[in-house]
Amino acid sequence: AAPARIGRPRRHGEAAENDSATPILEAKHLSKSFHGPDGRLREAVADVSFELFKGEVLGIVGASGSGKSTLARLLLALTDYDAGAVLYRGLEWPRADDRTKRRVRGKISVVYQDPYSSFDPRWNVGRILEDALRLHAEDGHAPQRADLLELLEAVGLNESHLRARPRHLSGGQRQRVAIARALAVHPEILILDEAVSALDVSIQAQILDLLEDLKARYSLSILFISHDLGVIHHIADRVLVMKDGAVVEEGDADAVFHAPRHRYTQELVAALP
Ligand code: ADP
Ligand code: MG
Repeated sequence: AAPARIGRPRRHGEAAENDSATPILEAKHLSKSFHGPDGRLREAVADVSFELFKGEVLGIVGASGSGKSTLARLLLALTDYDAGAVLYRGLEWPRADDRTKRRVRGKISVVYQDPYSSFDPRWNVGRILEDALRLHAEDGHAPQRADLLELLEAVGLNESHLRARPRHLSGGQRQRVAIARALAVHPEILILDEAVSALDVSIQAQILDLLEDLKARYSLSILFISHDLGVIHHIADRVLVMKDGAVVEEGDADAVFHAPRHRYTQELVAALP
């Protein structure tokens, strides 16, 4: 099927941002500290740098508490960083004017582990997706049914799911709805923060396959965050390994998986089932 509405051509003025040598998203020496329970400052993200290029899947792996979600929040401008910069196509967007921030916010979508917590329990799937489509429609027009059906089809759902409430869906179907909602704003970048971690292994594989399809169909760039190196190896082209807020290893996914250089990564590999 042709990629019809999602991922439509960019508007005027964006062509200059389209240079493929420029990373689509970049973290430059990012740091963020929080006060711990003992009142002392602790670095949750410590001097993290990386580049995400158009069409690639960058995996970020690390144990619980290593700073992955904080990093995601910095990239999404949901938390302000203490030092460094987040760049979207070379622009430090979290510190840009409100209009620019609104524009870039629509380019970066996120899917979390538990979409149920972010769905309004009174809303059915159709309402959730219509609401997200309306966010994207700049002219305020009501979403077209064709757009809604395209979104559902893209994530392997159909008309029969429109009236269902998320709590009546399976975990995998719920995550498909969350992905559809993330796609509704026509993002260029998808950040997945433990998005398959709550699912059974067989359902995980289905969602990973879906993400591969969507990446190709909508030329998405994907930042895939997980504590599970096996899942990361399955989907990522390149991998960053985080420990205590810092990047301890970065490389091609196969290299990191089969020939890890850092002792911590070697431990992660050894711990795989
Ligand atoms: P991960 O996603 O890898 O599990 P997080 O980014 O959630 O790691 O957490 C990294 C560290 O930062 C943890 O020690 C966590 O307790 C701390 N942290 C995260 N957010 C906050 C916050 N809002 N206030 C205080 N500490 C936080
Ligand atoms: Mg997390």
